Amino acid sequence: MPNNNLIKNLRTELLSPSLSLSYNDPIHVVRGKAQYLFDETGKKYLDGINNIQHVGHCHPRIANAAFKQLKLLNTNTRYLDYTILKYSQALIERLPEKLNVCFFTNSGSESNDLALRLARFKNKSEDTIVLDGAYHGHLTSLIEISPYKYKGAGGSSPPPYVHEVPMPDQFRGKFRGKDSSSNYLNEFKKKLLAIKKNNQNPAFIFESFMGCGGQIPLPSNFIKKAHNLVQEYGGICIADEIQIGFGRLGKSFWGFEYHGLEPDIVTVGKSIGNGHPLSAVITTREIAEYFNNGMEYFNSFGGNPVSSTIGHEVLKIIKDEDLQKNAKNVGSYLKGMLLDLQKDYSLIGDVRGEGLFLGLEIVNSNGSLEPLAKVAKYIVNEMKKKRALLSTDGPDENIIKIKPPIVFNEQNADFIVENLRSIISKI
Ligand code: PMP
Repeated sequence: MPNNNLIKNLRTELLSPSLSLSYNDPIHVVRGKAQYLFDETGKKYLDGINNIQHVGHCHPRIANAAFKQLKLLNTNTRYLDYTILKYSQALIERLPEKLNVCFFTNSGSESNDLALRLARFKNKSEDTIVLDGAYHGHLTSLIEISPYKYKGAGGSSPPPYVHEVPMPDQFRGKFRGKDSSSNYLNEFKKKLLAIKKNNQNPAFIFESFMGCGGQIPLPSNFIKKAHNLVQEYGGICIADEIQIGFGRLGKSFWGFEYHGLEPDIVTVGKSIGNGHPLSAVITTREIAEYFNNGMEYFNSFGGNPVSSTIGHEVLKIIKDEDLQKNAKNVGSYLKGMLLDLQKDYSLIGDVRGEGLFLGLEIVNSNGSLEPLAKVAKYIVNEMKKKRALLSTDGPDENIIKIKPPIVFNEQNADFIVENLRSIISKI
């Protein structure tokens, strides 16, 4: 096995310089199993961050199902194939009745791009409302609706049809506190009315729990009203479930379901294939029929028999292993301990999230709420030394994210909190 310096050098030589590496001293992972990763020396790390490997790294049922199908057949959607249909039925069963037509794609970005095409074509309008801090993907069409990117390094102003509204961050956002939802809603309404004045019907894309935005649960009374207003005014709501779907939140299978919403389009990715490049857009018959304007929708890989087999196996594993319930129980156990930890260390300004989608906001303990990105990064690097993997995110890079494979257990949660305590107590 080449040594890690050689691998780093080859990476610099051969791969895009825009890629990043996690941790000051990056890990060379060679194997994964359930919620654990192993490096080249056999060191075992507890994975607290890979939300893509949703039912666990290298789940044997997925490996076996994929291998069996790979040996049998892999083609595209231009042939009759029962695999994609059985899978579509299983996926639709998990969604509100009106969301019953599937398009299969190969990445979250591709799904969001297609969702925008569906919405914009249906409403003959490019206008799109986005929440500040949001990230929806790396394609050209998505960088321009992702404030997380266009406001960051290397970004540029979005086009005039992109309408940004403040991220409803009740801890450190434009309006603060539990009663601030109506202020955020007013800003939202103003934007919506301005768009309507121009006779446009916008698309509104949102994550019910914002990931890159800093693990922000949208206040239910904000998103419910904003979502319903958009639909009332003839707009189209797109729920981006790419990070939060498939039972991670514990209390509900989907983020929009948590808030009691019925969006017009749902996009899923990441965990849908447990690491296999699979994603999907699910919408109403009406929107799908409208899009069927004579231009074929063809996707070389989307919904192929191998991808469909894997996606279907993921759904079966979530059910058979009762993983949504596990996310709920272990998540609330972990959140409870994090809230206790917060009582002892005021640099943990906020503990938030649901199920196994949690965040710790690191701020100056002098009451100023100044975001402490360097401290958050320090904690994450020290945690890595203790063999627990976490990451930082948010517009100010001061949120510590916890979003492990949902097979995480209570001992894993204890391990995370014990190590956080030992590191934070020395800061
Ligand atoms: N939407 C959200 C909410 C995401 O978090 C991401 C990826 N981080 C994407 C879309 C894009 O997905 P992908 O990287 O698979 O293109």
